Amino acid sequence: MSTSAHTTTVVTSPLRRMADGTVKQIHPFTGTEVWTVPGRGNRPLDVVPAHDAAADPAAPEAHCAFCVTRLRETTPEKARLVRGGGQGDDDEGGARWTVIDEVSPDALDDTTPEFRLFGNLFEIVSLDYWKANHGYRISERAAAHQRAYLASAAGADHVRALVKVRIAAAKGDPAAVDAMDPADLAAHSESFFGGCHDVVVARRHLRDGATSTDRHASSGTLTPDEHERFVAFTVRAMHGLYRDNPHAAYVSVFQNWLRPAGASFDHLHKQLVAIDERPVKAERELDRLAVDPGMYNTWGVDHAADEGLVLAVNDHAVAVVGVGHRYPSLVVYSRSAASEPWEHTAEELRGMSDLLHACHAATGPLVPCNEEWHTRPPGVDVAMPWRIVLKWRISNPAGFEGATGIYVNTIDPWTLRDRVAPRLAELRASGQIASMALGDEIRRLPDGGRGMLRYGR
Ligand SMILES: [Zn+2]
Repeated sequence: MSTSAHTTTVVTSPLRRMADGTVKQIHPFTGTEVWTVPGRGNRPLDVVPAHDAAADPAAPEAHCAFCVTRLRETTPEKARLVRGGGQGDDDEGGARWTVIDEVSPDALDDTTPEFRLFGNLFEIVSLDYWKANHGYRISERAAAHQRAYLASAAGADHVRALVKVRIAAAKGDPAAVDAMDPADLAAHSESFFGGCHDVVVARRHLRDGATSTDRHASSGTLTPDEHERFVAFTVRAMHGLYRDNPHAAYVSVFQNWLRPAGASFDHLHKQLVAIDERPVKAERELDRLAVDPGMYNTWGVDHAADEGLVLAVNDHAVAVVGVGHRYPSLVVYSRSAASEPWEHTAEELRGMSDLLHACHAATGPLVPCNEEWHTRPPGVDVAMPWRIVLKWRISNPAGFEGATGIYVNTIDPWTLRDRVAPRLAELRASGQIASMALGDEIRRLPDGGRGMLRYGR
């Protein structure tokens, strides 16, 4: 260890195993310090739902407010993705999918949405925040959607009911909503149409044919095709937030799966939140990137290859076990030269989706997890690969972490690899995930799988 270890920010050894088996990790991009103490990682990880009941696989789903029979319990749809349709965006793989933008209140039941995009009823960063601090105005598109929606009796009823829900949650008087004139109703519902915190919800609550309510449809239980559409539809929404909000310094995209990971509903969904400054964590990473532009290849992928931590590779992405994370984490890097997700080709997006889908499938639907997208913030001119971190939320940081800033992660990277790698092989053999290189196939790749990321080329 260098004697300058106290002052330098250059990572020399992100992963060390001590004589007793304790594994010490330092996150190569953020400096987060993590220890894994031997003997704490062998517990079962699955969270079995406390309540389950019989489910009728033939009945339309109505388990939660994100279910397809309860479309009016969420804010008006900014967009939906449906199968079929005559005016499809594309026609790949023989299956046509169509985006319907600004869904009309009278057309909500005309098609079955496979994925829906709508504003979060309870925003983390509110429309009022953007208006008060930045003079933000909702886009003309969103304003036109709102006018058309409120001009329909069914649309006005839908909006009024949701304004009541929000006022009741804030301990206000929901009866006041009935007395609102059209201008008041419009003012109280503007965020539904032009807010900057969106939700993307998948169609299924439970897996097809489920006969009990604990068989949740997770990212890993989608087909690879469906998962690709989920990712592409989310990328489109992310691009839309940047387009509509010039004050957005960053759009955070994440997925909370199951309640211990922060989900309000056990129904598959992602969230997108625009914020007006770059997170400190991202700034720290950008500082390191400025002095070491190749760090994602060096410390993200090559280091993983040296330590035997590369899990899966295809032409457009690579999945590794992450080092220096507070929770056991799988990390998928895009190999594209493009930094922005929306500048990926359809094949590159599919490659990214396939490895993310495989990581979810190998994790299994009973492990609470966060999926976190890391993307280059606007205004940064150094190339940066899109990466997605999948964190298993199986422990709770407590006083020791708060007092020391050292996190205890119960599973070290090699143990995590040994749990995940065999699952990937089984899933590939059974055709549940896409084709990809695994295990020894990766070590036989050119350069043993080193230098795989093409960002900045
Ligand atoms: Zn549901």
